[in-house]
Amino acid sequence: MKKIAIVGGGISGLTVAYALISKNPPSPPFAKGGDILYPPLKKGDRGGFLNEDLDITVLESDNRPGGKIWTDKVNGFLCEKGPNGFLDNKPKTLELCADLGIEPLRSNENAKKRYIFSQGKLNVLPESPLAFLKSDLISWHGKLRIFYDLIAPKGPEDETVADFVIRRLCKEALEKLIDPMCSGIFAGDPYKMSIRHCFPRIKEIEQEYGSLIRGMIKLQRAKKKTEAKKMRSYEDKNFSTSQPLNFSTSQAKVGPAPSGNLTSFYNGTQTITDALTEKLDGRVRIGVSVKGLEKEGDLYRLHTSEGIVYADIVVLATPAYASSEILRDFDKELSKNLSGISYPPVSVVCFGYKSEKILHPLNGFGFLIPHKEGKKILGTLWDSSIFPNRATEGHVLLRSMIGGAKSPELAMLEDNDLINTVFDELRPIVSLKTEPDMVRIYRWEKAIPQYDLRHGEKLRIIDDRLKSCPGLYLTGNAYRGIGMNDCIENGYKIADEIIKKCQ
Ligand SMILES: Cc1cc2nc3c(=O)[nH]c(=O)nc-3n(C[C@H](O)[C@H](O)[C@H](O)COP(=O)(O)OP(=O)(O)OC[C@H]3O[C@@H](n4cnc5c(N)ncnc54)[C@H](O)[C@@H]3O)c2cc1C
Repeated sequence: MKKIAIVGGGISGLTVAYALISKNPPSPPFAKGGDILYPPLKKGDRGGFLNEDLDITVLESDNRPGGKIWTDKVNGFLCEKGPNGFLDNKPKTLELCADLGIEPLRSNENAKKRYIFSQGKLNVLPESPLAFLKSDLISWHGKLRIFYDLIAPKGPEDETVADFVIRRLCKEALEKLIDPMCSGIFAGDPYKMSIRHCFPRIKEIEQEYGSLIRGMIKLQRAKKKTEAKKMRSYEDKNFSTSQPLNFSTSQAKVGPAPSGNLTSFYNGTQTITDALTEKLDGRVRIGVSVKGLEKEGDLYRLHTSEGIVYADIVVLATPAYASSEILRDFDKELSKNLSGISYPPVSVVCFGYKSEKILHPLNGFGFLIPHKEGKKILGTLWDSSIFPNRATEGHVLLRSMIGGAKSPELAMLEDNDLINTVFDELRPIVSLKTEPDMVRIYRWEKAIPQYDLRHGEKLRIIDDRLKSCPGLYLTGNAYRGIGMNDCIENGYKIADEIIKKCQ
């Protein structure tokens, strides 16, 4: 019997909506193509729009749903404007794929080979402890210092990623291993990022086992014991015979092992947001921007670019800066806290090449560059080396990231400067012979939210303020995890809370 308005049609908002309709028999979509979703209602009069079921609408300001998940097909190249995949170690995403009837595609063996650009060359990121000891990426002094982790005392409740790594491991590990990881995931600055909020599992391991090395060994042993059991269970759940797996040899099937392989879809990450939108069957309204929110009796009154919308329950699945704007006149403190979450810009620059024009074999996932190396790009992913259908036969696709928290200005260079900068950086690293055959620039002026040392306090205030606004929910990548997996998991949690409230 409730009208639910979900603001933001990225993976977070779409997941909330889908989780709600899949838990409830769906009601017919309301006001398809109408100018105003819900006509203004008088107090006490709900205009006869109530159904037996939840009445759900997703309001999306852009002219397409999907948010940061956006796959662009250009002359035989499949360019990801945002994420190029998710890790297959979270069951919720795989369950959602199975439910939607879409087939996840695990990256191939190349994805296990990751490079770090250091001391003028690409170095393979060591995968095992033995490979780590043999690698010349870290000096012997640095390797020995890392064992200090076994006796290092536990740290404070929260600290920067840099402080955590320098304290437990060493500065060299921070500069050569962790700094590029922070760039690759958050486009962030480890000297500002919170260890507790950016890498909660690492902090938990320290707290539980007193040492990262000891914790990893124990977890590895435990994982081996349960792996066989989990494999069977995932296979039964997600990849039943009702979903034929017709992968060619170059398309590895998503394995059931919860080992964290980068996973996407044959036609790119947008497959999942497209499938969600289709299942939502007209409930996603594009081109509707929400400007503000107020309370009118028990209802929320949303001011949108298409008129007023009334709802019993509102989910803001918008970026924090957008939610802050929407809530500006509704709750100043909530709005202020949301505006404190920063989103530095990132540009994604795709180069398509005939394979013969690149001397490097591109036999891996791609590479990341430590800030200390003084390069301008954050790194480059070789998408066509790890997934099929990213480039036509005899071609390759290179996807470089530039900008982020440490060099935001670079993301906003003029097109030609941006292309030349990326080309000049890439040329010596992978031995480019000529200019690319295909170029695309995708700019995110506000790309990825940064969880700084005040993030915990911001979350506490936000949660506190929401307690006095029953029926108002916030979700999205600004709060508790930026990965697609986190957005999906959190979307399901919000849907659960709503269902409980409605029962
Ligand atoms: C370059 C890049 C690479 C990434 N790589 C990866 C990766 O490889 N793997 C991974 O897991 N994650 C990756 N991420 C992160 C991941 O893509 C995002 O965290 C996730 O897609 C965010 O989803 P969301 O729904 O929370 O937010 P968004 O995708 O930002 O969606 C929010 C939606 O709200 C809409 N909106 C905003 N304001 C309003 C308004 N006033 N009214 C109505 N609608 C509004 C927006 O148009 C948008 O569609 C990457 C992100 C970027 C930018």
